[in-house]
Amino acid sequence: MRPDPVPGPAPTRSSGRGARSALVSPALLDFWAQRWAPAWSWNRPLARVVAREQAAADAVSLVLKPNRHFRGFRPGQHLNLGVEIDGRRVVRSYSPSAPAAPDGRFRITVKVIAGGKASRFLHDHAKVGDVFTLGEAFGDLALPADDGNPRLLLAAGSGITPMMAIFASLAAQANPAPTTLLYSTRTRDQRCFVDELRAITAAHPALQVRFLLTRDRAGAGDEAEGRLDADQLAPWLDARAHVLACGPTGFVDAARTLLANRAAHFAAESFSPPVFENTDAGTVELTLARSGRTLEVPRGQPLLDALEAAGLSPAHGCRRGLCNTCACGKSSGLTRHLLTGEVEHEPVSALRLCVSSARSDLVLDL
Ligand SMILES: Cc1cc2nc3c(=O)[nH]c(=O)nc-3n(C[C@H](O)[C@H](O)[C@H](O)COP(=O)(O)OP(=O)(O)OC[C@H]3O[C@@H](n4cnc5c(N)ncnc54)[C@H](O)[C@@H]3O)c2cc1C
Repeated sequence: MRPDPVPGPAPTRSSGRGARSALVSPALLDFWAQRWAPAWSWNRPLARVVAREQAAADAVSLVLKPNRHFRGFRPGQHLNLGVEIDGRRVVRSYSPSAPAAPDGRFRITVKVIAGGKASRFLHDHAKVGDVFTLGEAFGDLALPADDGNPRLLLAAGSGITPMMAIFASLAAQANPAPTTLLYSTRTRDQRCFVDELRAITAAHPALQVRFLLTRDRAGAGDEAEGRLDADQLAPWLDARAHVLACGPTGFVDAARTLLANRAAHFAAESFSPPVFENTDAGTVELTLARSGRTLEVPRGQPLLDALEAAGLSPAHGCRRGLCNTCACGKSSGLTRHLLTGEVEHEPVSALRLCVSSARSDLVLDL
């Protein structure tokens, strides 16, 4: 019988670890150890799937048990999950959709994206026992400390995941501040966590949920029809409110416009891929100092995309400049930040490849 791999056998952290690591590389140790205990690693955060459940018609929830190297997360944060698909490691960001259990287990919920590689794989094929790599948690979506002022959480599509974790963490508090979650989906069968949300609101008068349906007719008392607009928001508008929004870019932009100057605090995150405007033409020479390679790459293209197009696999995560996984040193050359348009002339120690493009010949520490 295989030993339970999570948490793995705890090797000594004292002189034994130093002595052994001098003799055997962590990667080699992991290679052999994982034949018997797939979620054990000398130093890498990994997680094993311990349960799966259909969360909606097009979404699956996976409960993951991390090994001892994972340092946890705050509700509202995200993490990068690495999955092997057809022999290649694919990394995508997911937001835990519930606070962590006391033993560290946590849940992610993945909505299938048409033509999507990781979401389709996780929905159709992830099974109990599978092991994925984990990145450290990142992201700033969080409610400020409870000051008694009302809170409004706005979610659409897969944007429900961090909001669900935040809402459930409020339900665990003794006297949470009045909080309303407005959750928008096209249809009823695309909603996740409906029973869980209704159970929370039944138990906590201060917590309310309103389901917005853009294609189905509203039926239950907590449902309404239509998109997020001024009328839908009117009952919840309060100049003292703290508002968080998460969903596709169109939803987040609409929320930002509707709430401009009408709430004390507004923070939002979008899961949709950013659209970069390419204003630079031509190609430049990119030198990779550590590997000694030289490539010709298009100006204006995210450096991460350019490196991948050249057959390289630099470490990466969210592809939106949030998680810092792709950060690397730049010792010379001009780069443009593709989200802000700013041009960086100086050498930097942490250039994010996913949101930076080359403007001139470059030398990167890769
Ligand atoms: C911080 C963060 C947290 C996230 N949390 C969650 C989460 O909790 N649950 C969840 O289901 N997803 C979440 N996502 C989205 C997730 O990371 C993937 O982008 C998504 O699962 C699609 O990956 P894929 O490999 O299936 O698609 P890909 O193969 O990467 O892309 C296929 C096509 O779909 C487009 N596409 C990719 N992602 C999206 C998207 N989110 N919306 C619309 N079109 C898209 C691509 O541009 C491409 O055309 C999060 C994203 C970020 C940045």
